[in-house]
Amino acid sequence: MLRKFDLEKIPIVEIVNDIIIDAVKRDASDIHFDPHDNFLLVRIRIDGELIDYSEIPNAYQKNLITRIKIISGMNITESRLPQDGAIKTKIKDYDLDLRVSALPTNKGEKVVIRILDYTMSAQGLEKLGFSDKNLKKVREMIKVPNGIILVTGATGSGKSTTVYSILSKLNKENINIMSVEDPIEMDIEGINQIQVNSEIGLTFANVLRSILRQDPNIIMIGEIRDTETAQIAVRASITGHLVLSTLHTNNSLTTIERLLDMNVERYLLGSALTGIISQKLARRLCPNCKRKRKTIEYEKDLFKKTLNKDIEEIYVPGVCAECTGGYKGRIAIQEVLTINEDIKDAIANNVRKEELRNLVYERTDTITLLQDGLNKVINGETSLEEVLKLIELDDSIENIEAENNNLKNVSSITEDVTNILDKNTNQIDISNIVQEPEVIDF
Ligand SMILES: [Zn+2]
Repeated sequence: MLRKFDLEKIPIVEIVNDIIIDAVKRDASDIHFDPHDNFLLVRIRIDGELIDYSEIPNAYQKNLITRIKIISGMNITESRLPQDGAIKTKIKDYDLDLRVSALPTNKGEKVVIRILDYTMSAQGLEKLGFSDKNLKKVREMIKVPNGIILVTGATGSGKSTTVYSILSKLNKENINIMSVEDPIEMDIEGINQIQVNSEIGLTFANVLRSILRQDPNIIMIGEIRDTETAQIAVRASITGHLVLSTLHTNNSLTTIERLLDMNVERYLLGSALTGIISQKLARRLCPNCKRKRKTIEYEKDLFKKTLNKDIEEIYVPGVCAECTGGYKGRIAIQEVLTINEDIKDAIANNVRKEELRNLVYERTDTITLLQDGLNKVINGETSLEEVLKLIELDDSIENIEAENNNLKNVSSITEDVTNILDKNTNQIDISNIVQEPEVIDF
């Protein structure tokens, strides 16, 4: 049901406030104002899905858009060029932190308000949906005072929440944490956060070079987008800093491949990388109305093949007044890889992709995204439909099959790697590099 506003009686200021507050109350992540021929369509995104919210007649469109531009600090006389703005205010007891983007389309200006929600990060690492085993791995990973930890996933997969949660955990008085971000999505007390501004040449790489002269312990890089940033990140980590960053990749294996594509020195990367956390967000089944049903043959096969479990029943979404389509909130599905010596050596020695795949998924106790997702289906946290929507089955099954089929090959690969290492003097070079101060000057 679309919401109706009495536009003749209620001032536009109140209507805009009302839409924003209602969206926040409903845990929406974004509010869209889409110009159409006869009306402005308002949509809100809840748990990743865009839902029609209201239609504002054309006569009020300009006033409404202007009001949003005023409160987000945009130029109201400019409607032909894209603009970015922000709203930080308190409306009716709600502390709001909103990012606003306006973009001219052929039907008029489209405005999107992103609602930044800190509640997840503030709840801590323990509330992010990591399985016990994965949480333990992450805790071990962040204890190491140097190296690179990467959080990977698509846009909107909750990467920032995970990174901020880790930073909050590491944020102690005797530690200097510096971040370079675009945009700064959450203010954390005690962390020196720097906003990139490429228009004036303040790029990730430039800021990073300066950060290294600011005696940091921990450096957070909002995102590794280019080779230059990746190279500085690697060098910073091997000179004794803990580097946290994000990358747009799907899983542990593609993350390593992407970094290597970025022309980062292999032996340095192998030495630098500590861990990779890959994640996706699935809608969480509403605890109030979820119900059980029997699994069909195909599903039984999938659980058997992926987890070696016989699953007779799974939960599916129901219908109730407390949720949207049987779902309420979201849960992260994760793959956590601790980079062990074998993988470090394999990266440094440029092994083939298939061999790397075996080392990542077979020679470690890595739970793949598909396995973690299916475990969460068994636990009734999300549905099979959600997991299959997020994870490409072919690729994941391939990983698991590689695990099962190549046991023999892997042991011989490891022998090979060990042999290479015995002869390889690069290992000694790395320790030299770590100790040499001139590496800090890039
Ligand atoms: Zn429900």
